[in-house]
Amino acid sequence: MKIDLTNIPLEGREADFTLKPDWWKSDLEEDRIVGLESPVSAWIKIYPAGNKIAVEGSFSTRLLLRCDRCLEPYSWDLSKDFRIYLSISPFKGNAEVELLEDDLNLDFIDGKFLHPDQIIKEQLILTVPMKTLCTVECKGLCPICGCNLNTTTCSCSSGDKNFLFSNQ
Ligand SMILES: [Zn+2]
Ligand SMILES: [Zn+2]
Repeated sequence: MKIDLTNIPLEGREADFTLKPDWWKSDLEEDRIVGLESPVSAWIKIYPAGNKIAVEGSFSTRLLLRCDRCLEPYSWDLSKDFRIYLSISPFKGNAEVELLEDDLNLDFIDGKFLHPDQIIKEQLILTVPMKTLCTVECKGLCPICGCNLNTTTCSCSSGDKNFLFSNQ
């Protein structure tokens, strides 16, 4: 899946696409995201904007996130609209892509093609909250035995309640 960046008409160039759940590859940097529970439905449009290229789009999916407190996965629905600008001069004909800024994310671009799924991936990561919680009242893990206090009651917490505080 790629979009040709040459000869972009003024009215733009657009694409509808679906990314299957196995498209997502978890990596260590993004361990908040366990995976996708449903395909990503996405729409993307590129058009010339001054000396840049505007990339506008929207997508929706259901993610499986890992709770920061209890470490259990939970479902999270997401839908997002976005618009970003690529610092590439809109070129005509068969000219090569001219990269104008060093900080451009090159994962997006391959020669004269744009990879829309890489843009969706970045937008998806940006949308996930830094602090992930399965529920606002998640009780987390017992700091002593490590059991999940949402589903289990351990003997550590039923004993001396001051124990935790005296340890801090
Ligand atoms: Zn939790
Ligand atoms: Zn415990």
